[in-house]
This record gives sequence, C-alpha cells and structure tokens, in this order.
Amino acid sequence: MDVSNLEAAFERITVTDENDDQLVTTTTYHKSKTSLSTAVSISGLASSNSAANRMKLPLQKLATVNSSKIVSANITKVTLPSQAAQHCSSDENPSHRRTLTESAIYAQPSGPKQWHLGMFEIGKPLGKGKFGRVYLAKERSTGFVCALKVLHKSELQQGGVEKQVRREIEIQSHLAHPNVLRLFGYFHDAKRIFLILEFAAKGELYKHLRREQRFPEWKAAQYIAQMAAALKYLHKKHVMHRDIKPENILVGIHGEIKISDFGWSVHAPNNRRNTMCGTLDYLPPEMLSGGGKNFYSEKVDLWSLGVLMYEFLVGEAPFEDTQVITYRKITRGEYTVPKFVSAEAKDLIKRLLVLDPEKRITLEDIEKHPWIVKHCQKGERAYNRASGGEPHSSSERDS
Ligand code: AMP
Repeated sequence: MDVSNLEAAFERITVTDENDDQLVTTTTYHKSKTSLSTAVSISGLASSNSAANRMKLPLQKLATVNSSKIVSANITKVTLPSQAAQHCSSDENPSHRRTLTESAIYAQPSGPKQWHLGMFEIGKPLGKGKFGRVYLAKERSTGFVCALKVLHKSELQQGGVEKQVRREIEIQSHLAHPNVLRLFGYFHDAKRIFLILEFAAKGELYKHLRREQRFPEWKAAQYIAQMAAALKYLHKKHVMHRDIKPENILVGIHGEIKISDFGWSVHAPNNRRNTMCGTLDYLPPEMLSGGGKNFYSEKVDLWSLGVLMYEFLVGEAPFEDTQVITYRKITRGEYTVPKFVSAEAKDLIKRLLVLDPEKRITLEDIEKHPWIVKHCQKGERAYNRASGGEPHSSSERDS
C-alpha cells in the first residue's frame, strides 16, 4: 500500500471542529529539565479487544513520585515531515536526517506551527481506545498522511489521567527512531486533545501474531533486532518503556515495527525507579518481588524482550497461567521452551530471562548474538529494517 492508495482510501467522516476559530496551541516540546516518574497510558488504558485477556495491574498501584514537579510543556516548532520523508528508514543516518530537516523546512511555515483540526482531512477510523478514537488523517497543506488520536478531556478528567497523558506526550514527542512511533505534535479544542501520530499502516503486531499463531524464526529475529535497536535508542535517552508486549507494537508500511504506547514509560535520569506498573505476564521479577518496592533499572525492558521473543516463537507468553502461578513462575524464572524452538533462539531467551537484572544480556550483545546474526545478516538487516522485506533465501525460514 503506498501513500496514493491511502489517499484513495480516504473517506470523509464526522470529526467536526468544535471551535474552528479558537486558537489551538500545540506541538512539540522543549525537553523538560525535571525528572518524570510514572505515567499512565492513554492507550494502555484502552479497552482493546485484542488485549482483553491480559491482566492489567490496578492504576491505584502506581506511585506518583515527583508528579508535581512535571513542568508544563514549552511550545516550540513542529517538525512534521513531508511525504518524501515518510519513507526515511533511519533518522540516525545523517543523510536521512538532512532529508528530514530539508523537508521539514519545506513543509513548515516560519515560526511555530499552530495546529487546528481544520488543517486535517479526516479519514477512516483506525481503532478505538478507552478515551477516544484514532483516525487516518491528512495534513491539507502538505498532504502528509498521519494518524490523529482524539482524546476527550472529560474522559481523561474522569479517569484521573490528565497528568499522565501529558507525561506520555512529553516523552514521546522527544523520540525519533524508525522503530519508535513518532508523535509529531498535538493540539486541543474545548473538549478534545488531538495527537498527531505517525501512521502505522499495517496495524497492531498483536493481530499479526494471533493470525499467524507464532512467527517463523527469521521474522521473530528481525522483530527482536528492531526492538533491540529501539530500546538501545530509548535507553540512551534515559527512557525505559516498561510495558513491552505485542499489544504496544504497531507495524509500519514496510513491515517494520514501531514501539508505541509510552504510557508506562519513564524518563529515568537516576536510572532507577521503584514504581509498579505493567502487564503481569511481561513483568520482570524485580518489579514483582517486594510488592514493587524494589528499585529497578532499564534492564526491565530486557526481561520483557525475552518474554516477547518467547511469545513470538511459541505463540503464548512463557509464564502465562493464573495470576498467582504466573507471579510464582516469574519470581522463580520457571518456564519451558518447546522443542520446535531452535537451540540458538533458546539460548537468547535464556540470556534475557535472567532473574538478576545485571546479568541479562546487553542490547549490544543481542545484536551480536548468533540467532540474530543468522537471520539478520549484514545488509539484509538494513534492508529488512527499512522495507520489512523477507529474507532472500527461503532456506532461512525454519518455522
Ligand atoms: P490506542 O488508543 O492507542 O490503543 O489506539 C486504538 C487502536 O487504534 C490501536 O489498537 C490501533 O489499532 C489503532 N492505532 C492507534 N494508533 C495508530 C497509528 N499510529 N497508526 C495506525 N493505527 C493506530
């Protein structure tokens, strides 16, 4: 599906601008100087059907350390890239960065961009979360295709999640990586908040996994390599995600994965946090033991990556059971890997699902692991990251 097909698929629907004239401020933010502690998800709270059988820990369990210190956002420029830049495979490549900057300049009027609903043509609904809907949208002046998430202020208020939503926006708007869903900016009117998100054309990874039951090893390896690249980027920025699971991963137009849902993520300037959140199946032992009172680090994401890898290859999470048994299995690190999983894959899972966070394999070593190297050979890995294409050799598929 290319952008022109997307455009063809556009149908006008009923999102009206409730105050067209009212100025709507917005966009990307200056980096907050203060630390962010916990965050509740806009989408993590979503009543997604696909996630219905996943247990969520009650929100009350969230600590709100330093929440009063959160500085409200300073509004600056927005960098909504042009369509040409939508296909950029990596912001980290300087030439791509140049392209992005050039297109942003081209697409941007001088001075801060102030968005309002009238600037977007609204297309088909893409999905529904607890606090609102997500629509395909097109920015009229540039034709840029994006996803517009519409959140109702009253519902956020009722849910007591306004501050957390602000934190989610704050974190996500600072991130730019091919495997992290971009948040280009936001605006609001009297009743709603609109998030301008990168459009993930192939939808939720969770649905792909349920459809395919489990992924062949070559595909799982490429996804895990992309996850490791994204996590490396996030951890370098002192952001731990803390809610890695298939429901929080979207798939881009080229089949590349995009981590989304930064509701549980935190900026971790001290590298250590002690709040309790997440989905039980994916929670690391250090977040469970001591009722969440223990300190933990960004290594929590490595454990969850191990759970994710297992679920990709087996079709279910390694500790899936009743809540009590799951809890016990996680704290003891008890799981079995079916025989159809290759020895190399088993080895990487074993190195990720290590009870002692400090002994887990590092993100750098994941990239060098034989299972990853085997399925993501040089050149091919880059190709697949950019295009989501399949391996050249069919012998590589060993599902
Ligand atoms: P959320 O409220 O974020 O859980 O979004 C609800 C649903 O909308 C998701 O489950 C996706 O199917 C869809 N969706 C959300 N964001 C996007 C996006 N950026 N691109 C494509 N689909 C999306």
